[in-house]
Amino acid sequence: MSTAAPAIDTDRIRSLDAAHHWHPFTDTKALNAEGTRVIVKAEGSLLWDSKGNEILDGMAGLWCVNVGYGRKELAEAASRQMMALPYYNTFFKTTNVPATELAAKLAELTPDGLNYAFFANSGSEANDTIVRMVRHFWQLRGKPNKKTLISREFAYHGSTMIATSLGGMTAMHAQVDMPLPGFSHIRPPYFVRDGGNMTEEEFGIAAAQALEDRIQELGADTIAAFIAEPIQGAGGVIIPPASYFPEIQRICRNHDILFIVDEVITGFGRTGNWFASQTFDLQPDMMTLAKGLSSGYAPISAVMVGERVAKTLIEEGGEFYHGFTYSGHPVACAVALENLRIIEAEGLVERARSDTGPYLQDGLRSLADHPLVGEVRGVGMIGALELVKDKDGPVFFDPIGRVGTICRDHCFANNLVMRAVRDAMVCSPPLVITRPEIDRLVSTLKLCLDRTYADI
Ligand code: PMP
Repeated sequence: MSTAAPAIDTDRIRSLDAAHHWHPFTDTKALNAEGTRVIVKAEGSLLWDSKGNEILDGMAGLWCVNVGYGRKELAEAASRQMMALPYYNTFFKTTNVPATELAAKLAELTPDGLNYAFFANSGSEANDTIVRMVRHFWQLRGKPNKKTLISREFAYHGSTMIATSLGGMTAMHAQVDMPLPGFSHIRPPYFVRDGGNMTEEEFGIAAAQALEDRIQELGADTIAAFIAEPIQGAGGVIIPPASYFPEIQRICRNHDILFIVDEVITGFGRTGNWFASQTFDLQPDMMTLAKGLSSGYAPISAVMVGERVAKTLIEEGGEFYHGFTYSGHPVACAVALENLRIIEAEGLVERARSDTGPYLQDGLRSLADHPLVGEVRGVGMIGALELVKDKDGPVFFDPIGRVGTICRDHCFANNLVMRAVRDAMVCSPPLVITRPEIDRLVSTLKLCLDRTYADI
């Protein structure tokens, strides 16, 4: 394809943007002083800005463009569906073909027992839906006091009031008096920071013990559910030791607490299986899906509901007073179905597991000796480098986050999109990224680590 960017008046777009467009998760004043980068097109794992710069997208957008950019099949699926039925609701005894097919496909792909899909438009909405389902479930089971959801520090579950409360981002909480009552957070299994002298195995058990302790403190009869991202993505790609989730699941079962996994990032091949629940051997009662469900080509999310919760809500619940105008949107569902077809047809899950996934992990690990790198962690097509002041300990930087931001800015200046979470450099490229592109990612990252090291 031609790499020439279409003629765009960058200055005009920038000034209109500064005047009218309020960006999410952005310091608008700082952004307007600097000016935005205008992205105009994309193909595979590459983006182009309005100045013609080619940029390697190490983040798959926001961890979502699993099949890569520029997929004509997805545009055609959307177009076909728009011509046939652009919209109809699923509230009033009607359905549409793509929504039904997609629900059935998700029931087939997700772990056993997750047989019902409730559709929404974003991960945040899906997680709001889960909180409502869970509380309603326990009411119907005659345990209305089981209301509280336990989550973890550094968890990200979305930006609505409920999803913010569910998440464990203290900076988000502080701005708006969160969390709401009924949400509680325990420490994450962040080995490189908190492991001390423990082995990973010991630390995994100790971190899971925090759940047991919190349940004892609050009383199991007040706890509805525990929710976890299998890998905490926006929290810095925190990967739990192997001992963590077996213990967490045992504790949930012991206290009759629902176990929910948020696979918004980890779903659809990211960890080398369709779902991280398979990678970590999880048996969730409910699962949140979004992002890779449509590879970001259309806004869509789903709550997968397991037999236990579904049976109670469906058999005994009567009408569930919850839903969105666009739940089961035919165009979004048609795009998602075509996206899943591509992932299957091109073997992208297998590729993340045994080809480019291990290649990316080897590439990242080749940077482990860099003086800034305290830990390299990752699985499949997601990874992180924890930057530290001193490898011995390791000793983290103070203030935390400054060095990560410097490195992130170097990446950006060198046409590589990576994200800094505190001082962890994280990546989550499209599953279609090629080996030469991975080489480029790793060599650019090395250059940026060197420059960051020189700066500080
Ligand atoms: N859960 C997780 C694990 C996420 O990473 C995100 C988004 N980054 C969300 C939920 C929220 O999704 P959305 O932005 O679509 O509301």
